[in-house]
Amino acid sequence: MAEVEISQLHKTYPGGGRPATRDVSLTVADGEFMVLLGPSGCGKTTLLRMIAGLELPDRGSVRIGGRDVTYRAPRERNLSMVFQSYAVFPHKKVADNIGFGLAMRKADRAVIQDKIAWAAGLLQLEDYLDRYPSQLSGGQRQRVAVARAIVMEPDVLLMDEPLSNLDALLRLQFRAELKKLLTDLGTTCVYVTHDQVEALSLGERVAVMKDGEIVQCGPPMEVYDSPASEFIGGFIGSPPMNFLDATLRRDGGEAVIEVAGQRSAAPGSWAAFAEGPVRIGVRAETITAHRAERSGALRAVTEVAEPLGSTTLVTAVLGEQRIKVQVPPDFPVGAGDDLWLDLRADRLSCYERDTGRVLV
Ligand code: ATP
Repeated sequence: MAEVEISQLHKTYPGGGRPATRDVSLTVADGEFMVLLGPSGCGKTTLLRMIAGLELPDRGSVRIGGRDVTYRAPRERNLSMVFQSYAVFPHKKVADNIGFGLAMRKADRAVIQDKIAWAAGLLQLEDYLDRYPSQLSGGQRQRVAVARAIVMEPDVLLMDEPLSNLDALLRLQFRAELKKLLTDLGTTCVYVTHDQVEALSLGERVAVMKDGEIVQCGPPMEVYDSPASEFIGGFIGSPPMNFLDATLRRDGGEAVIEVAGQRSAAPGSWAAFAEGPVRIGVRAETITAHRAERSGALRAVTEVAEPLGSTTLVTAVLGEQRIKVQVPPDFPVGAGDDLWLDLRADRLSCYERDTGRVLV
């Protein structure tokens, strides 16, 4: 079992002012792929480095496989790390790079050769074992770094933005390969990224961080569909979630929202919330647009339509607010056209106007 349990981890760097992490608690299950996601400076790397033992917390604890390792050296934690910079030894051949950790452990020469062959096979590096890193592409070099990490058969694999130095196409390809590899291996993995697409595609769970805290943690689609705050809905998804100023009302026991003087149905459970000003969160692809008037749909005017290939993104004006709506590529719409938007009550989220926190 290699569960990672961090509890109340708090860290302020000397002269750092604000804490880099604030009493963060998180449990990563044995074999789970956990992604730490957040904007630059939110404390992701600091958290990862404390799990690795490369930084000490001011307080709190790290347990791996039930063992308290908070003050243990990195090498006593049986984990491997892959960094953004490939961090391979330039003067060693690929095979020696991959086998380096095992050689340091004084493993048997035949065992080392077997393991190098195994990892090279998994990462499609068989043809490059005799080359030096300078003779490899960026993607191949990063494969070497991953091979060097998994060859140690760590209890926990920690990865800090491992794909961010690759170009867009290679990143896409390697992302899928990495997901398959790590699912097959079943290694507990903590993966840091600021790229929300990477987080959604890779994570079994995503922990979203802001200002040194985890503000939401859950399966990717849960975080995407039901963000716990405006910050999260705005950070995850492209386009970001729409947020509209609205007024929540009860109409004969039914909850309704009023936007720009028009009414639209709200989920039945919202009848329990106090009437008054709120913010409504709605994803562009959950709205159904019509060109003809529909009862219960909100009338808006198209400002711009952007064909994106598989879909068209429409920006429309609803009263004085802008809203983005995804329509099929053959949907006939252009600037100035009227649209009726069906917001689909079951796909709405409701947030406090002042704090941006979700109402539950
Ligand atoms: P990025 O995505 O840019 O790497 P991050 O989310 O990983 O950001 P951290 O690197 O953990 O964030 O940094 C969190 C906070 O701690 C930031 O305000 C940063 O400036 C500060 N910080 C990080 N390392 C140090 C250090 N060695 N000394 C002082 N402050 C630091």
